[in-house]
Amino acid sequence: MTNNVLGHNCEWFQNLLANAGEKGFSITAAHEAGERMFCLEARPIEKGALKDLVFPGAPPDIGIAVAMRIPVFFCPSCGRDLSRLIAEHTKDFDELAILAPSLAVRPES
Ligand SMILES: [Zn+2]
Repeated sequence: MTNNVLGHNCEWFQNLLANAGEKGFSITAAHEAGERMFCLEARPIEKGALKDLVFPGAPPDIGIAVAMRIPVFFCPSCGRDLSRLIAEHTKDFDELAILAPSLAVRPES
């Protein structure tokens, strides 16, 4: 991963962007409700481990969140205005968004 994605040379941001779709926190490029935005995403378990989740005694229709995200408009590390960054690098942002993993997480069969 380059250390200068969209002209934002911030190690924290780059590391989380590189972790998109993996366990832990990450930053993803997303199109939500017609808007371009970066999201802070949390995935508590490995993608491949989802099928192994077993909660003995839990009701069969209980729902658990295995991926969550919220939009971030300023870099939580350095404070850079991310909306402005997107506006200045729209084409590059859209390419990142195409590569970003979906929030949908389904057990592998
Ligand atoms: Zn930053």
